[in-house]
Order: sequence, then structure tokens, then C-alpha cells
Amino acid sequence: MLLKGKPVADRIKEEIIKAVAERKEAGGCPPKLAILRAGERADDLAYEARVLKNCAELGILAEVRAVDQNISTADFLRVLDSLNEAPDVHGILIFRPLPEQIDAEAVSRAIRPEKDIDCMSPVNAEKIFTGDRSGIPPCTPEAVIEILKHYQYELEGKNVAVVNRSMVLGRPLAMLFLAENSTVTICHSKTKDLEKVTSGADIVVTGVGKAKFFGKNYFSAHSVVIDVGINMAEGNLCGDVDFEEVSESVSAITPVPGGVGTVTSMILLRHVIKAMELLGR
Ligand code: NAP
Repeated sequence: MLLKGKPVADRIKEEIIKAVAERKEAGGCPPKLAILRAGERADDLAYEARVLKNCAELGILAEVRAVDQNISTADFLRVLDSLNEAPDVHGILIFRPLPEQIDAEAVSRAIRPEKDIDCMSPVNAEKIFTGDRSGIPPCTPEAVIEILKHYQYELEGKNVAVVNRSMVLGRPLAMLFLAENSTVTICHSKTKDLEKVTSGADIVVTGVGKAKFFGKNYFSAHSVVIDVGINMAEGNLCGDVDFEEVSESVSAITPVPGGVGTVTSMILLRHVIKAMELLGR
């Protein structure tokens, strides 16, 4: 079975459109996203264009604060603080990685947690790890859970292998699976006998960032495979899983492109709505 991202993203889109309409009916100001970008990196600009397009489609206002690539930490924090304080801004998205002269940790501590739609703040990270659902989780781990739930996979009691231990993916995702009563193994580059761990799991999430790294031998016929990797191979976008080799021999798999990434971008905008609710305005 092919676990496409589009039907999941479309459902989230509907939810957002409904929330925006209800807000309008209640006489509230529209939800607003502020993007804070240092410099003009091509991939940041492409990502920004996609986010702005989605915002326009969904009725979310958007403002871009572009600052010089050589900006000091103090000046960057001043701009961030103005967005933290702005009463009409609900969500803030800061493009990462930040230029190296900026103290990224100071920035993550400074972003107002209720406006932190991309889970940079240690306050939101802590909430994930303590099982407190009042925070805003990172978008990609939430997208993984959303896809599995959309396709009606029972998560309770399932054995899950997550091949990634980063703070943007593997660690928070493991906590989200635990919250669903799954049994989770976090794997990484030093894991011994990775094939044995992944092929023994019911659900495998791959996020190593290596094109077509996972062949058939990493899975079993009943594996549900969620491929988070986004890589380029021979000029084409592909995942961490060798889709051609694997797709026919597992129970279900997400495509790349058209899988997790598609859902992640909608989750980001759903977080603007959540931020609006957390702020109570
Ligand atoms: P990262 O920080 O580089 O993490 C990669 C992880 O893979 C690390 O935990 C690393 O282990 C592990 N790894 C690398 N080689 C391995 C191997 N041979 N065997 C087992 N584990 C191995 O990257 P990231 O930022 O988390 O992103 C991971 C991937 O997800 C990238 O392809 C990225 O483009 C993609 N991504 C997709 C989305 C989306 O929405 N679809 C969002 C974000 C990221 P160590 O910790 O031991 O080094």
C-alpha cells in the first residue's frame, strides 16, 4: 500500500480553512505568520515561496522579516523580540541553519514558546519529553504520526524502529510514539545489526539522509515504512529507502516526494492556528 501524503495534507488543509473561517465569523483578526530570515540562501527562498503560497491559499496572513546575513546576535534578537511582542503575529518561523555568527541557542531560548511553530524553544522540547501536550511539537515527527493515524494504523503495542536520533526528528518522534503506547527503538550510525532491528519492527521510520540506503533486507513483508529522508540521486529527489526494490515487498510505504514532506508543510501552518489558540487572541 502506498501511503501518500496528499490526502493527509488535504484533510489538515480543510481543518485550517474551517478554523480560519470560524475566527472570521467570530470577528477575530486573521491568523498571522511571521518569517524571520537571515540572508538570501536559495533553499530558504524556495521554502519561503512555498510557505507564502500555502498561507495565501488558506487565509493565513504572512509577513517576511529579512535581515542581513551578517547581522549580530543582539540585533537578530531585537527583531525576534519585536515579533514576540507584536499583537497581530501568532506564529514565528525562523529559517535554519542560522548564519554561524548568530548564537542559535540564544535564539531558541528567546523565541516566545506560544509562537514557536517549528519547535525551536527548549520549553516546547521539554513538553514533548515530559508528555505535556500543551506545547507545539516539531513538524516532521508530528507528520509521521499523522500519516499513520490517517491510514488507521493502530500504534498501541507496536514495535517501532526510528533510524535517526536528531532533535528535529528521532528523539521527539520516539516520545510521540511512546505517548501512543508503542515500544520504540532509536537507531543511529553506531547501532549494531541495524537490519535485525528494523526487520523485526512493525513500523520503521528512516531519516538517515542517504539516498536509497535501505534495501529489501532491512524490512519484512509486514513492515510499514515511513521514509523521512529527502535526498538527491542522479538529479532526482528520493528518500532513504530504495523505493523500487522495497515497495512491492513491504506492507506499506510512503513515497518521496509526495509523502512525509507534503504533510509536514501543512502541519507547520496548523501550528499557526494552535499558536493563535495558545495566545488566546
Ligand atoms: P541528521 O541530524 O544528519 O541525522 C541523521 C541521523 O541518521 C543521525 O542520527 C545518524 O546517526 C543517522 N545515521 C546516519 N547514517 C546512518 C547509518 N549508516 N546507519 C544508521 N543511522 C545512520 O539529519 P536530520 O536533520 O535529522 O534529517 C534526516 C533526514 O530527514 C534528511 O534526509 C533530511 O533531509 C530529512 N528531513 C525530512 C523532513 C521532511 O519533512 N520530510 C524534515 C526534516 C528532515 P548519528 O546520530 O550516529 O550520526
